[in-house]
Amino acid sequence: MADTFRGLVLRQQEKSVQADFQNLTLDDLPDGDVLVRVRWSTLNYKDGMILNGLGRLVRQYPHVPGVDFAGEVISSDDPRYAPGDQVILTGWRVGEAHWGGYAEYARVKADWLVPMPDGLDGAHAMAIGTAGFTSMLAVMALEEQGVSPDQDGEILVTGAAGGVGSVAVGLLSNLGYRVAASTGRADTHDYLRSLGAHSILDRSELSEASKPLLSERWLGAVDSVGSTTLAHVLSEMKYHGVVAACGLAGGPDLPATVLPFLLRGVRLIGIDSVMCPYEKRVTAWKRLTQELPMDQLDAVTTKVGLRDILPWGEKILKGQVRGRLLIDVQ
Ligand code: NDP
Repeated sequence: MADTFRGLVLRQQEKSVQADFQNLTLDDLPDGDVLVRVRWSTLNYKDGMILNGLGRLVRQYPHVPGVDFAGEVISSDDPRYAPGDQVILTGWRVGEAHWGGYAEYARVKADWLVPMPDGLDGAHAMAIGTAGFTSMLAVMALEEQGVSPDQDGEILVTGAAGGVGSVAVGLLSNLGYRVAASTGRADTHDYLRSLGAHSILDRSELSEASKPLLSERWLGAVDSVGSTTLAHVLSEMKYHGVVAACGLAGGPDLPATVLPFLLRGVRLIGIDSVMCPYEKRVTAWKRLTQELPMDQLDAVTTKVGLRDILPWGEKILKGQVRGRLLIDVQ
């Protein structure tokens, strides 16, 4: 390998961060037991926040962002991994508290990796990325709570044209659910129908403050918006309906009452992809490989070179990214 490799490095400048591509050496990388040659990464909403120095997610600079990556093991001090193994990393605050995937090499803890499942490659793994992995966890949460496709009713997906939303719409419709997709972008309706959405709502219908209880409408919901949208969704859940709360694209608050819980037995389940235990990760990746058609995944994916990433970091914060962004690191 060459003595140096390219990486995107963030530095703090007073109250903002400055991003520059730099030559790095292996000695620059943080401690860890596995060295990975990063081939693919992604851009998630959290990456957008980190690239723009928001949310106090990164406490130590200089910093290499990128919360996900897929690549090949170069060397390993851990018996679970050997040179040549293909691996995936999402979560564990990599790209946030630890250097991440926006460089050609990363050194990480073996505990944070999962082996590439049979039938999946690095590009498709990163087209899924943290966002798609989170969608799978949300679907698994609905199932664990007893929601199934043979029940009467629709599953609502909010922020449907975003990363978590697009993969959730595709997964749920492939599993046989009737999916209602909520979006603020009229130009994504055909896209959402092509992923299997049965009905489409304008997000303004859900974003206003609602009464504590409205007519029962949804069997389940996957929410990536939070705030008044999640409060509105809770008030429209059917008796014993289940909501998987994944995100805060509309804000971190929840201006709701407890009435949907007390009078309709509604269940609100939190989804955390970052600290998700290993066994559940392996199950979720296996299911994504088997249950998300790769041609559908290709249809929601835009490929961007690492050197072109910065404007996309701003776009994702404005809700202007459709589906998933795959980052070509090499
Ligand atoms: P995206 O930006 O791709 O998707 C978010 C979508 O939310 C947008 O595309 C838009 O959808 C909608 N949206 C954006 N702003 C607003 C707003 N002000 N009001 C209502 N809707 C809005 O992001 P991701 O899919 O990557 O992430 C979605 C959320 O999930 C983020 O908050 C992220 O932090 C969170 N997340 C959480 C994880 C976890 O472990 N819990 C893991 C991954 C992500 P549309 O145009 O269709 O309306």
